[in-house]
Amino acid sequence: MKVLLIAEYRDGKLLGSTAELIQFANALGAESAMVLVGSESALPAYNGTLYLADIQQAGEFNPGVHKQLILDVVAKEQPQLVVLPHSSTGWDLAPRLAVALNAAQVSEVVEVKDGQLVVPACNSKLRRTVNPATELSVITLQAGAFTPPNGEATGTPKVVKLEASPNGDIQFLGYEAAESTGVDLSKAEVIVSAGRGIGKPENLAMIEALAKALKGEYGASRPVVDAEWAEHSRQVGTTGQTVSPKLYVACGISGAIQHLAGMKKSDFVIAINTDKDAPIGEVADVLAVADLKQLVPVLTEKLSIL
Ligand SMILES: Cc1cc2nc3c(=O)[nH]c(=O)nc-3n(C[C@H](O)[C@H](O)[C@H](O)COP(=O)(O)OP(=O)(O)OC[C@H]3O[C@@H](n4cnc5c(N)ncnc54)[C@H](O)[C@@H]3O)c2cc1C
Repeated sequence: MKVLLIAEYRDGKLLGSTAELIQFANALGAESAMVLVGSESALPAYNGTLYLADIQQAGEFNPGVHKQLILDVVAKEQPQLVVLPHSSTGWDLAPRLAVALNAAQVSEVVEVKDGQLVVPACNSKLRRTVNPATELSVITLQAGAFTPPNGEATGTPKVVKLEASPNGDIQFLGYEAAESTGVDLSKAEVIVSAGRGIGKPENLAMIEALAKALKGEYGASRPVVDAEWAEHSRQVGTTGQTVSPKLYVACGISGAIQHLAGMKKSDFVIAINTDKDAPIGEVADVLAVADLKQLVPVLTEKLSIL
């Protein structure tokens, strides 16, 4: 099988998702080539052909121009899969490419099992295996699902330069960073996070109290933020903050891939969950199978008298 990896570049830097694209190709045992709209000054550590278009000429993101560059490489390489990160750029380009190529489009791939693509279903409660019916498919990879093993990546790509054709329809004006308000969890050394398992907003107080006893901050999973029990700056995950504290305590959090992507670089993870089979157990150093409403106040009290 051959896959075409579409790397991303932003603000003069190659994005970390490039390593996840390479890891995906490895997990599939596939031959790969890569497309990058970027610069020769920041090339990925990659053993393969890299089709490189100059960012000054092609623009940081222009859907028409970028789509055409990828279509030209697809014609040359004849891959079975075109693979993009599940990012705002990937969401935009993947359907455009799929329509142009008359290909199936599979979003948010989180795993490769026996050579098949696995995607979340029912708000990530279930997983299903997908077998595209077309010979060529365009897919996006969920952030954090194909993290490469630790260690410095090596390899030098064989660079093939691409010429971008101008496209007058859309002009790229730039990125505007959202105004940051609230707490910056990325600097916290201890984070105690509340998940849907807290049951009701009043129970957030016990999570805050434990965070305080540990001299840390409290965080939350997305359902807690969506229910407006906690502000968005507290959200950990792909659509929240990425954190790497020394200690992460996940209270009533199941461990959906989108949450794990935001916290799995934590040094030590304690999970408190009534379900011994909750997926958070796979990344936790300690899984306490307990009702958080009973265990959290006891822990807080013990810590407070130390
Ligand atoms: C595009 C997209 C982006 C997303 N981004 C994010 C993101 O950034 N961050 C994020 O968190 N999610 C995100 N999600 C949502 C994600 O898929 C999950 O739905 C979410 O993480 C689940 O949150 P949870 O673990 O709190 O709730 P649930 O999955 O409902 O888990 C609740 C857990 O609490 C346990 N529990 C229940 N009662 C108790 C109790 N009394 N004591 C102890 N344990 C108990 C249960 O056993 C269960 O494991 C995103 C989803 C999509 C589609």
